Amino acid sequence: MTDTAGDSILQAGVGNPDELDRLWTPHRMAYIRGENKPADGSAGECPFCRVPSLPDEEGLVVHRGERAYVVLNLYPYAPGHLMVCPFRHVADYTDTTDEEVVEIADLTRQAMRVIRSVSAAEGFNIGMNQGHIAGAGIAAHLHQHVVPRWPGDQNFMPIIGRTKTLPELLSDTRALLADAWRVG
Ligand SMILES: [Zn+2]
Repeated sequence: MTDTAGDSILQAGVGNPDELDRLWTPHRMAYIRGENKPADGSAGECPFCRVPSLPDEEGLVVHRGERAYVVLNLYPYAPGHLMVCPFRHVADYTDTTDEEVVEIADLTRQAMRVIRSVSAAEGFNIGMNQGHIAGAGIAAHLHQHVVPRWPGDQNFMPIIGRTKTLPELLSDTRALLADAWRVG
């Protein structure tokens, strides 16, 4: 599918068309360039601690629970890539409370339902990277990834430029998922 209109993105290679995959674009260049990386592991530097203090639209928060919240990944591996995070600045899964574990699990389950309700996701990768050595980008604050998967989703064509459209696309995705979450 190609669209040459001024503010549109070029898209190719994704599986089943649905409400999410039209929003795909490679957000990961900013991540590769190292932008938005915390200077250290303190709560004051932590994006996962800062995001809940922002309006949902600005922080890309999809849902707020009592002890944990759900946020869109700013540098998604796939459209609809969510993260479930405790509000508390805690790095290691073994340091969570029983209440936090239950709520993280419940929000993960609900995130899968919500993504399925707005897309034809056929599978998910769910998990936590514990420590920088295991691939955690922000190791100081626990976060569980929920990444929807589609057939052929590893075959994206590289897309150059268009980065100015990213915040708008992510806010569209956030609104779509937040609305679906409310409807249940
Ligand atoms: Zn934190």
